Amino acid sequence: MSLDFLWFPTNKIFISGSWESTAHSQTMNLVNPSNGKVLAPIAKSSVEDVNTAVLVANQALNGHWGEQTALQRGRLLNKMANTVEKYADRLAVIEALDVGKPLSQAKKDVVALARYLEFYGAAADKIHGVTIPYQNDFTVFGLRERLGVTAHIIPWNYPMQIIGRSICASLAMGNACVLKPSEDACLTALAFGEIARECGLSDGALNIIPGIGQETGQYLATHKNVHHISFTGSVTTGRLIQKFASTNVTPTTLELGGKSPQIVFSDANLDKALPFLVNAGIQNSGQTCSASSRILVHRPILHEVLERMAKSYKALKVGSALEDYDLGPVISQKQKDIISNYEDKGTNIELVAQGFLTESAETTGFYKNAKLFHTSDYKHILAQEEIFGPIQIVIPFEDEAEAIAIANATDYGLVASVWTENGSRQMRVAKKVKAGQVFINNYGAGGGIELPFGGMGKSGHGREKGFEALYGFSQLKTIANFHG
Ligand code: NDP
Repeated sequence: MSLDFLWFPTNKIFISGSWESTAHSQTMNLVNPSNGKVLAPIAKSSVEDVNTAVLVANQALNGHWGEQTALQRGRLLNKMANTVEKYADRLAVIEALDVGKPLSQAKKDVVALARYLEFYGAAADKIHGVTIPYQNDFTVFGLRERLGVTAHIIPWNYPMQIIGRSICASLAMGNACVLKPSEDACLTALAFGEIARECGLSDGALNIIPGIGQETGQYLATHKNVHHISFTGSVTTGRLIQKFASTNVTPTTLELGGKSPQIVFSDANLDKALPFLVNAGIQNSGQTCSASSRILVHRPILHEVLERMAKSYKALKVGSALEDYDLGPVISQKQKDIISNYEDKGTNIELVAQGFLTESAETTGFYKNAKLFHTSDYKHILAQEEIFGPIQIVIPFEDEAEAIAIANATDYGLVASVWTENGSRQMRVAKKVKAGQVFINNYGAGGGIELPFGGMGKSGHGREKGFEALYGFSQLKTIANFHG
């Protein structure tokens, strides 16, 4: 499909409010996962470009951007929300083409981005500091200040949503941002730059530098004039980011994925639960940090749950993103291979059901069928590691204690859900499960704009979304005034 409708350049970087060539005029090819063909040439930023982006971001803090009041920043974000809505159809199409996600999911992501802008736009002037009772001849207060320049290294699975939750919160607090999108999907990140330009965001408040993770991303994470790093991606890269950040003692927020369980007790309302059990696993072809890849089922209803989930799986259609089937392709051949390698390890567990590939799934695209497995071995590799593909594992449990033990028996702790009509059990389990977010009789893969989100264990640390993100993108200064 032609990208003639793009209203911004793809081979340039967004620096200080305008589109610039990279220092070495290099580009890299962006691939359409639905057919494996080149979608567009993308600017490939070098370390010189990182230096420029960080420099102009620091200058913005001392210039027009730094002079903006919280109210002005909020209004600007609200204007950007309206502009995102203006371009909603185009944004959805380019996200679907770039990531390979079904068009209807891409449309939801646009709505989420607009909502993040609206939420943080409205919140910008509502974050207050604190006063602290101390000795009588002191007046002490805590001033909430911006951090400075925040770096945002984001993955390919939900570019718009992750830009929404991290960039918008950071801008609301008055920081200046440098965004390094994934080399596998960066069109909507570039579109976001153009939207910021159209809305008149101060020069340098947002800078966007696509590039290779191990070059551009790594250099950005080690930069001494970056004051915070927000990273979403794999545990392996997250560890590296933390190591790089330690050089300059730069604070980090790490969002590193999960192996999130849904716990289904025998008294659960299965009619309500079923769509959540399946969708939370196959949404975005399972390439969701908060995907629910483990379904823990109370043994008395195991047979019924397996039967009903299998029926849903057999109806799942996999096909090209724009044709909007239940699942699109996965992001790349590399990701397809990762998933296939895990499937090869699933020989000693039961394959319960799978979806089917439609004719639109071109052989040159990166398609993976949705698969439902069942095992009692909760330590099985498929039940332990983040696969990041459309694979769910059903694991039976005997009682509440075992359900909690299995739920907590991975290195991760991002999201969980508890399905039961028993109110006491709801709270008992919710409190004992290791997860940053616990849903009761619901599940939110992606998790809600207003709801603080982040991990325990190897799912990472720090919280984004909701008001909590505004605390994360600011710091408290204690001022003690002695008037004795
Ligand atoms: P990465 O974690 O490697 O990539 C995430 C981001 O980090 C991208 O922007 C990437 O850039 C960048 N990056 C990569 N290496 C470095 C580095 N050394 N220094 C700084 N930045 C870096 O994920 P992958 O895309 O390689 O996917 C691999 C696996 O990670 C997946 O199979 C999946 O399991 C997991 N994953 C988890 C996600 C989540 O939301 N939890 C999201 C994405 C992946 P670039 O893309 O240019 O390499």
